Formats: sequence, structure tokens, C-alpha cells
Amino acid sequence: MEQRRAYWDDTHLYEVDTEVIAVCDEPTSGIAVREGIVHPKGGGQPDDAVTVDGGPVSVSKDDAAVWLHPEGDLPAVGESVHVAIDPEVRRRHAALHSAGHLLDACVVPLGFVGVGLSHAPGQAFLLYDVDGGTLPDGEDAKVALVETVLDRAREHVAAALPFGAEVDAEGVRRVTIEGLQTDPCGGTHVRTTADLTGIEITRVRTKKGQLKLSYTAEHA
Ligand SMILES: [Zn+2]
Repeated sequence: MEQRRAYWDDTHLYEVDTEVIAVCDEPTSGIAVREGIVHPKGGGQPDDAVTVDGGPVSVSKDDAAVWLHPEGDLPAVGESVHVAIDPEVRRRHAALHSAGHLLDACVVPLGFVGVGLSHAPGQAFLLYDVDGGTLPDGEDAKVALVETVLDRAREHVAAALPFGAEVDAEGVRRVTIEGLQTDPCGGTHVRTTADLTGIEITRVRTKKGQLKLSYTAEHA
């Protein structure tokens, strides 16, 4: 069984006719398909919203494949099915995820090191330990930090920096914002930073010596 990680190659491939290559019974009945356009939850990015032959399915993953779990009878191995993801959900997830990379590239040079994140709609955040920088002390300092970060981010958006990805010899996928940052990542990304709009830092918190930036962004 070999499933192709099509979502690594094309964020904007929203539907495909593809072959069932495996079925499973445990823990829930499901199918794996050849062309894996579905992003499974991971790395801070949620599952896609998915249908198989028009019916909604839940998503899971293991080491072998991304599994789709339809209601009712399963198609057999070798049958063709139509797999579709919700384009708006995918675009929102890709934008939030990509904006997370971009903001991170603006925050780290200020003397912080990332220790946690989420790219989930409505609750996206980046969490940092201090690494040579200074935690903002008081509201004015927080506003100043946000302005510094957003100024940098806006410059990078204006420059339309391409997102690229390569899988290295160890099988680790490394995602690069050209000229800015390379990180190991299995998520979906916009084509360039210019695809990002509405980037805002909605909340700054300093607690237990850490900096937490809540943010939002949309697909242009
Ligand atoms: Zn990523």
C-alpha cells in the first residue's frame, strides 16, 4: 500500500478521483486512497473537512496512511472514489499555518525561541521562551512589540516571498520561506507571503517568563 502525500505538493488540490488501496476495521472502519489530498491533524493544523462520494467522513492517521471513515458500507480495495475537501477550510488553515511561520520569522530575531503553537482557527497562537530578548513589560511595551513584529511581517508580505518544501535524505520535510526561514513541517502552505492578508496579533500575554502571541490571518 502506498499513499501519495498529494497535499504536500499542492495546497489547492481540492478534489480527486482516486483508488481505494486499503480498508481497515480497527478502531473504526475506514479506507485509505492512493492520492492523499487530505491533511490530517498535526503540527498545530487541524483536519480538513472531507467528503467521500459526497458523504462527510472523519479523518485519522497512522504510520501507514491517512484514513477516511465514511458512514455505512465501505468501498472495496480497487474501487474508485471521489474525495473532496472544503476549499474554504483548507485555505483558512493554510493561511493561519503560513502566517504562523511568517510571524515566527519576525519574532525569533527579537530574541525569542518557539516552544509551542497552534494554527487552529479562533485559537491560533505562538508561544516563546526568552532567548536573549526582553519580555514586554506593560501595555505600551506590548503595543510596541506588536508594531515591530507586524511591520516586519508587512514588509515580507509586500515582497511576495515564495514558500517552498523539500524532503531531505532522512525523510524530513523542510519548509522554507525564501530568504527568511527553514523549518521541519508537514502542513499546507500558501504559495507566497503575498497570499496572506488580515494578519493581526490579537493578544499578547507574558506569563511564567514566556511570551504568547495570539494571532489571526486570512487567505488573500
Ligand atoms: Zn508549515
